[in-house]
Amino acid sequence: MRIGVLTSGGDAQGMNAAVRAVVRTALSLGAEPYAILEGYQGAVDGGDRIRPFGWDDVSGILQRGGTVIGTARSADFREHDGMRRAVRNLVERGIDRLVVIGGDGSLTGTDRLRREWPDLLTELVDRGEITAELAQEHPALMVVGLVGSIDNDLVGSDMTIGADSALHRIIEAIDAISSTAASHQRSFVIEVMGRHCGYLPLMAAVAGGADYVLVPESPPAEGWEDQMCQMLRAGRAAGRRESLVLVAEGAVDRHGEPITVDYVSDAIAQRLGEEPRITIPGHVQRGGTPSAYDRWMSTLLGWNATQDVMAATPESVPNILGVRHNRVTRLPMMEAVAQTQAVAGLIREGKYDEAVAVRGESFTDLLGVFETLALPPSQQAVAPTATSRRIAILHGGGLAPGMNTATRALVRFGIAHGHTMLGVAGGFRGLAHEDFTELEWGAVEALVGEGGSSLGTRRGVLGEDELYAVSRAVERAGLDAIVVVGGLDAYLTVERMVAERTRFPALRLPITLLPASIDNNLPGSELSIGADTALNNAVWALDRIKQSASASRRCFVAETMGRTCGYLALLTGLAAGAERVYLPEQGVTLADLEVDVARMRAAFEGGKRLFVAVRNELAGDLYTTDFLVRLFEVEGHNLFDVRPAVLGHLQQGGNPSPFDRNLATRMAHFALEELTRLLAAGGDDAVYLGLTPDGLKTWPVAGMLAQLDVTERRPREQWWMDLLPVFSAVCDVPADLGAQATNG
Ligand code: ADP
Repeated sequence: MRIGVLTSGGDAQGMNAAVRAVVRTALSLGAEPYAILEGYQGAVDGGDRIRPFGWDDVSGILQRGGTVIGTARSADFREHDGMRRAVRNLVERGIDRLVVIGGDGSLTGTDRLRREWPDLLTELVDRGEITAELAQEHPALMVVGLVGSIDNDLVGSDMTIGADSALHRIIEAIDAISSTAASHQRSFVIEVMGRHCGYLPLMAAVAGGADYVLVPESPPAEGWEDQMCQMLRAGRAAGRRESLVLVAEGAVDRHGEPITVDYVSDAIAQRLGEEPRITIPGHVQRGGTPSAYDRWMSTLLGWNATQDVMAATPESVPNILGVRHNRVTRLPMMEAVAQTQAVAGLIREGKYDEAVAVRGESFTDLLGVFETLALPPSQQAVAPTATSRRIAILHGGGLAPGMNTATRALVRFGIAHGHTMLGVAGGFRGLAHEDFTELEWGAVEALVGEGGSSLGTRRGVLGEDELYAVSRAVERAGLDAIVVVGGLDAYLTVERMVAERTRFPALRLPITLLPASIDNNLPGSELSIGADTALNNAVWALDRIKQSASASRRCFVAETMGRTCGYLALLTGLAAGAERVYLPEQGVTLADLEVDVARMRAAFEGGKRLFVAVRNELAGDLYTTDFLVRLFEVEGHNLFDVRPAVLGHLQQGGNPSPFDRNLATRMAHFALEELTRLLAAGGDDAVYLGLTPDGLKTWPVAGMLAQLDVTERRPREQWWMDLLPVFSAVCDVPADLGAQATNG
């Protein structure tokens, strides 16, 4: 069975990961993958622009931006003659199954090709260009589409390939601009890509701590220029040192007139008497190395697409594969494309609510969330009322990037509800010592993108004597509720506090736990704040470690954090292109290691230059990283050398990724809404928050131990274990292909 893969239309970071996954999954399943170069132009041209690809042809491409097989906007393919040539070139090579990675235009073209395929075959036979037998062997074209688009505009999918990486580029730019803007107390107007889709500008506004954002789906009301400037002025008065306004490339007003960065800048200049600086990151947003998410998710999509296209029959309805809650979802191709293209029409017709609604729940949520977050207290309608409460925020457990972002958001949402927000220094011990400060709206400004923990956090579960001190402190400080942003030790501490409520009645107050841990080992939440950042840090480090080996034959044993949870190790292995992962969930046996040594030797004998094994810090207890290095070195018999690479605390450091900032913000918003409702109703529930396939939800702390394996210190169910077969298919070189494989 032969499968063609091509990338078409605008390029997007992560396309390479998808191509690599298609090629390797096909090989793993015994099919023959063909790459079609330069998009559909390659199909039209034929010759060596349609070429069989081996395991190695897609080695070392995961970390590269753009698409290594080329993309084009092919005018020939839009013409009948060009499409017929493409059909001829494909059937002559026995290819009647395609995985197409592109935007809505490319997928429209794909559907046309599929529909016209039978007629074009007849035409080719009539013209004597192919035989009737060949036409009969390939009566239909079977296709699966993947959407490569930094805009994230596919209706029905949470993400498209490239959107997360583009957001990384934008946030890098905004973080850089913020620091210079703050130094000079300047205003910046920044243009963000997105012709009909406000995803990038809105997410960037939340993650970058902007003051104002203009998105196509939700044009501002008449007189917005005055309102915007009033907000900017009030923001400065409340302690902001800079003003940032983000403008979507496709932003329009309520009359459909484009709103340009120049117009916004002039509006600010006229009203505030200062000269804003304009920045247009432009194609920088499309470029650069793909984020960890774009690598592992595109790998998962490519793996699924290949299986789907292999299982397709001439009768199958063609699908686009999208993403819902970290899982692959199947959308009928033409319906999804039509819905995606319809959004521009909705905006033109002034149906803004509908345009916003099709973007999905989290987009709609974040539009409202952003406004509350950015609105200085003097502009807020809700004044502190009688229901105003004293809420303490503390960080607990290991450090996770994004704890600060969550704190900023909690403070701002709390203030918007009229609460007094108190920061607790030094975790639960700080609580016991009544180490509080009131956190003001302006004081948390800079926390939006700051790594680390401004309040301070500590590992360790509170002992009984400390519980007593905590309960006294709660009483004396007159706390009405506590929000904990933290990891497993914080969860276990709160569990204990709840269990001891009869003995310490002061602990009968609402407590909310926000999951924050780079290990991603918390119950009730598929992802915790900080895990995406740690993953990106680990992948960044491994990219460099791999490059350092380019001159020799080498095996690296890279050690990731994660404690007893293999999430970070497996996802790092998937996203950085490792050959082997060692996970605590699977353990390590001597027999495994014997197989691994044999695999390594075969691979290096076959010409391989690099072999990367990723080991979670606690996988296989006694078989430490150091042990593995020595074992492989001895057994390698000078075929290759072996080096350890302990990634260490760099995984925990750095500024939170855009995803972690937005997750922290959404969770903080959800938590404060629930808490405010609960306080008004006089409840004392202790809950932990989770990102689930049904969106954000809370779980009672009293039931926590049912979800958690306390001995193993990880959730009983871990969704990401489903990614193991993907790893095996695309990373493990099959024995019979070993000789072809070199690296990555
Ligand atoms: P994107 O896929 O990023 O939306 P385009 O809309 O430019 O980008 O489409 C990319 C290519 O896909 C086009 O240059 C053309 O080769 C092919 N294509 C797009 N629309 C059609 C169509 N209606 N019929 C045939 N081919 C098309």
